[in-house]
Amino acid sequence: MIPAAFEYHAPATLKEATALMRRFGDDAKVLAGGQSLIPMMKLRLADVPHLIDLRRVSGLAYIKEQDGGLAIGAMTTYHELEASSLVRRYAPFIVEAIDLIADVQVRNKGTIGGSAAHADPAADLPALLVALEARINTTGGARARHIAADRFFVDAYTTAMGPSEVISEITLPALPLRTGTSYRKFANKASHFAVVGAAAVVTLGADGLCERVRLGITGAGPKAARSKRAERYLEGKAPTQENFQTAARKAGHGIEFLEDIHGSAEYRRHLTSVFAARALAEAVQRVAD
Ligand SMILES: Cc1cc2nc3c(=O)[nH]c(=O)nc-3n(C[C@H](O)[C@H](O)[C@H](O)COP(=O)(O)OP(=O)(O)OC[C@H]3O[C@@H](n4cnc5c(N)ncnc54)[C@H](O)[C@@H]3O)c2cc1C
Repeated sequence: MIPAAFEYHAPATLKEATALMRRFGDDAKVLAGGQSLIPMMKLRLADVPHLIDLRRVSGLAYIKEQDGGLAIGAMTTYHELEASSLVRRYAPFIVEAIDLIADVQVRNKGTIGGSAAHADPAADLPALLVALEARINTTGGARARHIAADRFFVDAYTTAMGPSEVISEITLPALPLRTGTSYRKFANKASHFAVVGAAAVVTLGADGLCERVRLGITGAGPKAARSKRAERYLEGKAPTQENFQTAARKAGHGIEFLEDIHGSAEYRRHLTSVFAARALAEAVQRVAD
């Protein structure tokens, strides 16, 4: 399919890009890897009279250590993340999750900023971003903002960003010692999008109990979100299969389960508890690895 006619802009700086966003308002969208936006334009699901390409803006693709965590430029591709020893050392589940996204072509082009901004309910990285308590840094609004990931994802394809805001960077805070991570998903067999995905970040205390638990769920409901009831249940408890199962049964609390051709609400509820339990158990097992 051929998209509707649009005007193409290729700013050289982020300042120019956000000025264009302000100028064209709802008629403009930024282009990152194009793996979601271009198909939507071709299918005429998105009408974008002004396309503002971020690919010529320099300095938006980087991965660097910051305060014991990571700062990642919005235009960093999945492939760059996957290949980064810094990312692997910080939290190996990021590399594992990316390995499960789509195919090599999509991973070569798709970006972390695009994945967050698109807020597809079935996208993988948002589950990890909420579990890691990432911050999404934006520019182009009245002021620069640092938005906590669990407030950033508002609804399906809807974020806390204003119309002229652009994601510049995503920061991941330092993880405590004795932390393990795991991402487990039940994937759509064709696209590999998550029917349900669970991202677990678990820290064990010196007493061997679960000291800090973060669990992000994607695919199940309209947005990626933390399962705070499951987290609270497991914190302070022994890392046993029984406790993982009980916590995982609480993981669906508060989720408005989606119902579509890929699965009923009941099926997604079941998958949420199964994959949450697996991710929690694997995260704990990796603390010792
Ligand atoms: C065949 C196929 C299979 C896929 N499978 C998976 C999968 O298994 N798991 C998964 O998670 N994803 C999957 N995807 C989606 C893929 O991950 C996309 O790349 C990603 O969702 C969007 O990233 P992008 O850089 O391509 O963004 P684009 O498509 O360029 O943009 C997407 C949206 O985000 C906005 N945007 C982009 N960057 C910014 C920014 N810096 N600031 C503000 N707004 C911005 C754009 O304006 C647009 O609205 C798949 C895609 C395809 C085509």
